[in-house]
Amino acid sequence: MANQGHESEMKKQIKWLALIYLAAVGALLFLEVAHFKEMRKVSSQIGESYDLISSRDEGLRLEVEYRRFQYKVASYVRGQGEVSHADVLTWFDIFWSRAHSIATENSIPDGMDAKQATILFADMREALKQVDPLVQNLRRGDEEALSAIQKGLEAFDGRVTELAVAIAQTRVEEAASLQDNLDLALQGIDTLLITSTAGGVLILTLFGVEAFRARRAERKIKIREARVRFLAEHDSLTRLGNRAYLNIKMKEFIKEAKAQDESFHLLLLDLDKFKDVNDTFGHPTGDQLLKNAARRLSGIFRSDDIVARLGGDEFAILIKADMLDIEKVVSRVIAALSSSFVINGHEIHISTSVGVSRYPDLSDTADDLMRDADLALYAAKNAGRNTWALYKHSMSVEIKHRMGLEADLRNALNSETGGLEVYYQPQVLFTENKNEALSVVGVEALVRWFHPEHGAIPPMDFIDIAESTGIIDELSSWVTRQACEDVVLWHKAGFDISLAVNLSPHQLNNRYLPDEIFQVLRDTGMAADKLTLEITESAAVQNTQTAVEMLDILNKRGISLAMDDFGTGYSNLGYLKSLPLDCLKIDRSFVTHIETNEEDRKLVRGIVNLARGMGLKVVAEGVETEHQVEFLRSLHCDVGQGYLFGRPMNKLKLVAMLERERAQANLWNELNDNEDVPYREATFHDDELSS
Ligand code: C2E
Ligand code: MG
Ligand code: MG
Repeated sequence: MANQGHESEMKKQIKWLALIYLAAVGALLFLEVAHFKEMRKVSSQIGESYDLISSRDEGLRLEVEYRRFQYKVASYVRGQGEVSHADVLTWFDIFWSRAHSIATENSIPDGMDAKQATILFADMREALKQVDPLVQNLRRGDEEALSAIQKGLEAFDGRVTELAVAIAQTRVEEAASLQDNLDLALQGIDTLLITSTAGGVLILTLFGVEAFRARRAERKIKIREARVRFLAEHDSLTRLGNRAYLNIKMKEFIKEAKAQDESFHLLLLDLDKFKDVNDTFGHPTGDQLLKNAARRLSGIFRSDDIVARLGGDEFAILIKADMLDIEKVVSRVIAALSSSFVINGHEIHISTSVGVSRYPDLSDTADDLMRDADLALYAAKNAGRNTWALYKHSMSVEIKHRMGLEADLRNALNSETGGLEVYYQPQVLFTENKNEALSVVGVEALVRWFHPEHGAIPPMDFIDIAESTGIIDELSSWVTRQACEDVVLWHKAGFDISLAVNLSPHQLNNRYLPDEIFQVLRDTGMAADKLTLEITESAAVQNTQTAVEMLDILNKRGISLAMDDFGTGYSNLGYLKSLPLDCLKIDRSFVTHIETNEEDRKLVRGIVNLARGMGLKVVAEGVETEHQVEFLRSLHCDVGQGYLFGRPMNKLKLVAMLERERAQANLWNELNDNEDVPYREATFHDDELSS
């Protein structure tokens, strides 16, 4: 874009320059043509002046030649000097021809009128004709002939002088006017020279100004281009290089490392749970945190290392540290970002996961470096965050599979055909009366994923992925909404059952959780007192105080809370007491061995007593045998859940089971006798997904 703009700007400039140049050349040409005429005039005047100079002394010569002739004639007759008769004849001819040429060329002097001149010339001719035979036949010593000749010419003596003076005068005047003309012409040449010089100077000046303007415009464009390039290669928030910049630098690093047989590392950083900072403190605080984090990172590295921000909470670093140093470098990075940030009065703690790739032995192109550091980052995050991992070839297969699943799971959440489905596992009420049929009082919603390619994927596998990538929020709210919709339908069909849904520890860090759940209740028409949220004892809950507050809000609105998998976590009694619990779910692992293991029996008894003491309901998970039922019943355990009563099943099968149970209950009421109807007949087995 910038280049195209530059080009069109340049084209415009060149057009303008050409136009100005043509105009200047045109003006100069006009001046030159005007003065060219002047030049021709000058050249003709120079010719004229030459002619004039050569004819200026015509009159003088006539006189001189006349006097010389007379002298030669006299000298010849009197024998003075070496004058011969031939010389006399020659001088006579010269004089005559001069007179003749003046007469025939009609060079009449200005002061003489034509008539006067004609008479003068005719008289001269006549006199010469008369004198001619005397001259031809002249002899040495012939004084008589000499005086006849002198007499013959006497009358014109004065006239020749007069003519000569008149001719000379005319020529002088002509010469003067010619001189004036020449002066004028020379002035013209001066003007021509001045205008040419002025034109030249004008063109040069115009060119100079234009060149200056063009240079200034180019400088401006260069500055603008540099700015555009800076913006294109840098992140506006932190002023660090961006992804494009990193790619350029990575190629340079590779070239240099190749030439010098060296290696370098690429670090990819991801701030753990940065989204929570944005959600909790708002985006301006999040932005400030990123700026501060960028400053801390830049502070650690040398100027020839590259620190870039790839977007969001992702940073990248190119560094020439060798293999031994890299561990120290990464530790410094993690330490730098884990000390608290104080922003707008809030003290904020974050942690960082780092993935590291290395050129050339582990990854040998820019793309590979990026991909491998990303795989390593993924591995670091899975290993529990706030840690780092160096890329290993073995990571590829495992992580790519996980990454593939992650992408598929996101797609599945947004499509009908992604294979996600909610299954329901029945929960039955243990009655006092041993002979009474056990009835389904609730269901636990358990998500299932029938992957279009990989088939059924165990929840533990993909829930783990959903948790580590943050998809769990969306997944759980999808499950809750689906389950509420189904249960509301069953309520309408007369099945008064409660619904338990699992909350992930991750969700307890989401301060909008209560609002989201209330929204689902409003949208689906689900009664709050029919909903139980199952939470686990987890160290992953970051801010227990906030979590407790949220659970309180939910509980006050009638939603029940159950502690899932009780006995496997690390909760102390104080923590348990701080939670607004309604129910404990004894973990399957204790129930499984109550028939054989005395210790487990004691433990289960203890848990039930504890629950009783705290006024909580007890649900036993993983009930698979009648003996287990008997034992749990003897402890006055309230509810049982397990394969014995039904595996998790799809909603159609659950409805069928509820219908069948209702029919049997009706039959039971009708018979109204003491017949022992075993609860097993009220169960429905679904073996689609054996865990
Ligand atoms: P959980 O909440 O403790 O769920 C009970 C698990 O025990 C279920 O496994 C269920 O199929 C299994 N189970 C029930 N009765 C028996 C039995 O008699 N014998 C045996 N061997 N197993 C039994 P599932 O469905 O594989 O789920 C595993 C875990 O995945 C759940 O444990 C829960 O923590 C999580 N989970 C499942 N669905 C969701 C969900 O929608 N959201 C969340 N956040 N977590 C879920
Ligand atoms: Mg559960
Ligand atoms: Mg459980």
